[in-house]
Amino acid sequence: MLEVLKELPSDSVLGLIKLFAADTNADKIDLGVGVYKNEQGKTPVMAAVKMAEARILEAENSKTYYGSDGNSAFLEAVAPLVFGASTALADRIVGCQTVGGTGALQLAAKLAISCNKDAAIWVGTPTWPNHLPLFAAAGLEIKTYEYYDVKSQKINFSDMINALQSGRAGDVVLLHACCHNPTGADLDLDQWAQVASLIAEKGMIPLIDSAYLGLGVSLEQDVKALQLVISRVPETLIAFSCSKNFGLYRERIGALFVVGKDGHSSSAIKSHVQYLARTVYSTPPNHGAAIVTSILSEPGLKKIWLSELVESTQRINDMRQQLAASSSVGGIDLVALGNQKGMFALLPLSVDQVNTLRDSFSVYMAPSGRINLAGLNRENIPYFVSSLGKVLNE
Ligand code: PMP
Repeated sequence: MLEVLKELPSDSVLGLIKLFAADTNADKIDLGVGVYKNEQGKTPVMAAVKMAEARILEAENSKTYYGSDGNSAFLEAVAPLVFGASTALADRIVGCQTVGGTGALQLAAKLAISCNKDAAIWVGTPTWPNHLPLFAAAGLEIKTYEYYDVKSQKINFSDMINALQSGRAGDVVLLHACCHNPTGADLDLDQWAQVASLIAEKGMIPLIDSAYLGLGVSLEQDVKALQLVISRVPETLIAFSCSKNFGLYRERIGALFVVGKDGHSSSAIKSHVQYLARTVYSTPPNHGAAIVTSILSEPGLKKIWLSELVESTQRINDMRQQLAASSSVGGIDLVALGNQKGMFALLPLSVDQVNTLRDSFSVYMAPSGRINLAGLNRENIPYFVSSLGKVLNE
């Protein structure tokens, strides 16, 4: 039976890890995989995480199962990051610990299908490459619109609104909470308000993918758009990832939050979310959840984590501004990058140009031209800019 399977192409960004490791050029730069890197190019475990792990090792006295929605202390600790300190919405919120942000997106998509088997999901392109296959695998019909024009480096807001005008009740609208991946270009709050009103008017439901909270401006600023949407639509799905802001990538920790119309539907929603999780992995792993819970519930650890998060965010922003200060390279306007947010920028490069940067200059990036700004540092920026200039002027 298995002979029918044809080999699929490997993940284009994860494949770069091996190529980069094997490259012996001392000037090589890795702008590929979307993980935070410090000035030395390392992705260390955060100090707050190490401390939390030591405490967990000491205090944990059982490995017995939790339910399908995972560690409830984790959900209680994370909810205020998303919804703020107010408990006004509390009875409308259903939380479920998930296997990373990806697991939350998958559960959200399956929940939407459970409610409406004909649901389509509206996805602006370009987007995180896993979005489209993930939603298709969950059974959602995919409808795309052009969110961002790579050449002019501008958001196509009117295209977005026009596309969403033809959405049907029961459709899902994918939105990136902040630090849009791959473009770094986020809507402003006026635009968010217009999108939210349209979603409400059409009876659609937003699915807000929050994978970079805290890495744009600050935790408080980065959550504003998400909170604005929740305040304007009756129901919201939120896929929250702790991979980047806690540096817990491989621990696979995230959460799905569902905001229902009213408190009455919460227990039915909860039962469906738990059922969907149970049919895939029964219960989620606890280590990442225990770390996040420990950090968020112990003021000393939280303070250390916050200062580490702020330091990472400042470093990324510093790299962004340094690149923007190069103003223009080979016809690419880098100034636009200065107003964007988060780890990524999308350069208008062809696949051939990306390949030449890799093969002739040892500068690695996603085939789309997406760069991870955290791969830059004060020393390698001039080499990156000059390599870019040489390739573009060829
Ligand atoms: N959404 C976006 C936009 C992402 O960039 C990522 C991670 N690259 C995810 C979701 C998934 O994150 P996780 O690793 O927590 O599954």
